[in-house]
Amino acid sequence: MSKIFHYLGNKELDYRSLMRQQKGVSIDGKSILPVQMVICEQTHSSVVHICGDEDSGAGFGAHAQIPLADGFATNIADQYLLIRTADCYPVLLYEKDAKAIAAVHSGREGSRKNIVGRAVQILVEHFGCDPANIIAHVGAGVCEEHYQVSEELYEAFNASLSADGFSACTTQHRHLNLRAVIFQQLLRAGLKYINIENVQICSYEHPDYYSYRRDLGNNRQINLIGISNE
Ligand SMILES: [Zn+2]
Repeated sequence: MSKIFHYLGNKELDYRSLMRQQKGVSIDGKSILPVQMVICEQTHSSVVHICGDEDSGAGFGAHAQIPLADGFATNIADQYLLIRTADCYPVLLYEKDAKAIAAVHSGREGSRKNIVGRAVQILVEHFGCDPANIIAHVGAGVCEEHYQVSEELYEAFNASLSADGFSACTTQHRHLNLRAVIFQQLLRAGLKYINIENVQICSYEHPDYYSYRRDLGNNRQINLIGISNE
């Protein structure tokens, strides 16, 4: 019997400790070993990697992270896809019938490039998922109020979204609303409104979360999803 296990993190489990200890994580009594996790490089691309058995453990010990990717998808049991964030948005996707999952890192660049749309496309085309049955969990990230950028970035972001037929969804000049953009992209990809779960937490406002814009630190919360064989 397999089931989907997912976790949207906060400071409780942090990426630097995970790397230092190399012991894996324990969440709600479930232990996940380093060899069961997969980490990608997160270079602000729109690349979604399709995992094979050989990717288990990527990012731990001598096993390099999946290069040049900001997302991944798999249907392999006990392979947990880990995304690290501190203001950028983690998006976890799964479809129970097809038993396939995906995880993406959608920050300013990933959101501009519609990486969640790419992940859904892979779930549909490669794993035979029905978008109407895909569930999405969008974790904590920086809100519009706390995400102000330069005029230049604002204009470029909006122009790029507009060229792809999306709205920037902003109410404040020079602010970016990544959560609304991602929501819109998930709907465009065919997900149902009721299957998109938004964690309405701003990482910048909430002290339990790492926020790059607030702390300028290099630690991150971890978020993961996997197909658990029990
Ligand atoms: Zn905020």
